[in-house]
Parts: sequence; structure tokens; C-alpha cells
Amino acid sequence: MVKYGPAYSPQDASSVAIVNSQAPTTIPSTSENIQNPPGTVVSSAMTSGGEGKRSGGKDEPKQPFTFRENMGSETVELIVGKDKAKFLVHKKLLCDKIPYFDKMFNGGFEEARSKIATFSEDRAQSMDLLLGWVYHGSIRKIQGTNNNGVREIPSWSFVDMYSLAHKLCLRDVQDEVMDAYLTYSFEGESMPSFETWTSAYDKVLSPSPLRTLMVYFGRLALSFNAGEFATAFDVPSILELLFDNSDFGVDFLNLIRYGGAVEDPRVMPRCDFNCHGKDEPCYLTKKGPCT
Ligand SMILES: [Zn+2]
Repeated sequence: MVKYGPAYSPQDASSVAIVNSQAPTTIPSTSENIQNPPGTVVSSAMTSGGEGKRSGGKDEPKQPFTFRENMGSETVELIVGKDKAKFLVHKKLLCDKIPYFDKMFNGGFEEARSKIATFSEDRAQSMDLLLGWVYHGSIRKIQGTNNNGVREIPSWSFVDMYSLAHKLCLRDVQDEVMDAYLTYSFEGESMPSFETWTSAYDKVLSPSPLRTLMVYFGRLALSFNAGEFATAFDVPSILELLFDNSDFGVDFLNLIRYGGAVEDPRVMPRCDFNCHGKDEPCYLTKKGPCT
């Protein structure tokens, strides 16, 4: 198992470009809704106390956190993608779950004052999935959709989602996204397309399990000498890809030379494509590597 520690250091968070040139300097007209979002209970008793503090003296038994204590009463806006999709999110929950946002909204950045952050390079679909994880604790399954009977299309782009999790240094989310894709690929007996191989290398620049997965699929694709996959992944097209993407080409040839027998990544141990090291906890078990 290859450990990808250096690529996921916390310093990566600071390298993420937060495009905020168009961020309003004041809270927009929805501020009333922002202060009191649906699901937030506001009362004089609540607003007079310190937010998030536990009640009771030292002799009182500890009570579980209430909904309001978990969520807080403050929200922030995330503006995502070309179409500027807007997500209104509970700030406390978001910052508790994702350190990147904690730095952004509780630090000295403009976003902390405006309560608005823009992610123009990411897809609204990926942010939607990420916020589903923030609120519900898991990434929803990838469904296959039929494109006029010709080709099955995944219901969400796992490369885009993986890329977003990678930028935010969320290794457990990366692993969950990876497992979701491998499950989808195994159940549908499908393989990622040439476009997906290229996209993975373009969006995650450093060595990562995502790149490794694409190279394993590349080697598997080359091993077919008849049938549907041999047609879909013909030698001239693979050769063209090697010329166009030298990073992929080097990894691909190194795997062929040093990687031993051809393996199908869809049936390999899932942890082989997770971010955690061999002896580090897996997000699935929280105890030790899953297999
Ligand atoms: Zn694992």
C-alpha cells in the first residue's frame, strides 16, 4: 500500500484559491432568513445565553448536545460553479466538520466578515454532496443512468467530488467517494472512460489514490484482447492518451513494468485505494484498515 501523506498536509488548505472578488461587502437582503434559518429555534432565553455553551453546574449530569447547540444560529453562504448556485449552511456545523471552513469563516479573511465564499471552479453538484455529508454523515450512492440505451452515466461525477474533497483536505471523504465509485463500477461492470482518466490527472495534480486507480484501470483495459472493453479501449486511443498526458504515461508504464500481474481494481481490497496508511484507521471501521 502506498501512503500519500505529503500530498494531504494541512498546508494544502492555504493553497486553495478562494475566488471572492465579487463577494458583497454587506450581508445580502436575505439576512433576515440567514439570521433565523428554517429549523432554528430562537427564543429570548436562547439568545441571551452564550451560544454553544453547555448548561448546568458541575454536579449536573452531562446532557447530549441539542440540535441548536450542534447547528448554531448563524449561517453562511457558499456560491458555487458557473451558475453561482447558492447554498445556505449552518456556520457552526460547517466549521466543526471541515477545518478549512473554520479557518475561512472564523479567521481574518474577508469571508469571515461577509459570511460569503465563492467556489467558481467547483461544481454545485459536488458541493451539494459535500454538504449532504456535513449534515447527514455520508455520501449518497452513485446511481447509473441510461443514455438512450447506449451508455450508462453515473448520477454524479466522482472525479469532481474527489477533487473538491482533496482540496479541502478531507481524507475520509475522499475515501468514501472512492468506495462509492468502486461499488458503482463493480455493480455495473463498468470502467471509467478515457475522459475520466484525463480528468482525474487534470484535477488532482499530486500523486493520489485517484491517479493510481486510473492507472490500474488503464492496465486492465489494455489486457483485454477481445470484446466490448477491447473495442472501447483500443490501442491507438491508449497510445494517443499516453502522448497527450505524460504524467499518466509515466505512471502507466511504471505499473506495467513494476506492478506484477494485472489486477482488477474493482475487486481489489478497497483500502488499496484509500488515503490512509496500512496501519491507520479506515473511515469505515474507525479501528484499523478495512479490506
Ligand atoms: Zn480503508
